Amino acid sequence: MKGGAKVIVEPHRHEGIFIAKQKEDVLVTRNMVVGESVYGEKRISVEQGDQKIEYRVWNPFRSKLAAAILGGVDNMWIKPGAKVLYLGASAGTTVSHVSDIVGPAGTVYAVEFAHRPGRDLINMAKKRPNIVPIIEDARTPQKYRMLVDMVDVIFADVAQPDQARIVAINAAYFLQNGGHFIISIKASCIDSTSDPTAVFAREVKKLQEADFKPREQLTLEPYERDHAVVIGVYRPPKKAGEETKEKEKKKK
Ligand code: SAM
Repeated sequence: MKGGAKVIVEPHRHEGIFIAKQKEDVLVTRNMVVGESVYGEKRISVEQGDQKIEYRVWNPFRSKLAAAILGGVDNMWIKPGAKVLYLGASAGTTVSHVSDIVGPAGTVYAVEFAHRPGRDLINMAKKRPNIVPIIEDARTPQKYRMLVDMVDVIFADVAQPDQARIVAINAAYFLQNGGHFIISIKASCIDSTSDPTAVFAREVKKLQEADFKPREQLTLEPYERDHAVVIGVYRPPKKAGEETKEKEKKKK
């Protein structure tokens, strides 16, 4: 799609994300590899002075992160320069947009255990130096600890019943204290017989027991049914005075 002079692209409230204003506004990220689509998505190029900038359309029906952004999350935490551990990368549809957002100063460590989508992920990463593809089971972070630095954010979309535990063991290895997590929960993957609301509440409890402090929760309607995204902080630093109060309590 040629944007030319007609399409106006404006920054979104979340840094690193943009909105292309056309007949219907669409979410876009600035393409790191100009001239190439990753999964057949449309591209929009805009002239800014002498410069040509290209954006890729980010479809909320194909990406839970895009759905969460359009659903109005307060804080996304994935921003230019961030280091992100992405669990459940698949072929890299969403990973490619995260790569656009964090840009050349950031890194996306993308973990996927299935070999077929893993191949596509590896091929995509060849052109995007800020992606480190890791073809391993996210249940065994010790196997990839040599490849991953401490990160600012963990994003998880593994669609597994033990997802909370998977995120907890990865956080213990790689997420800095005060870092953030974003977890997509598909109710039917965890328990197909209970009401989704009850499933989400149980998952939130598991996260709290593992030192995560959930701050936001939203469903992904109308883009995905019975999915929720939970966002929060990991081991937030204690506020001044809190530690002393705790010590005093223990003495009593
Ligand atoms: N996040 C992807 C996107 O937006 O393009 C879609 C992810 S799909 C819902 C879930 C993916 O997690 C699948 O590709 C699956 O193979 C992967 N997965 C499930 N369990 C995993 C595990 N234990 N370790 C690594 N990958 C896993």
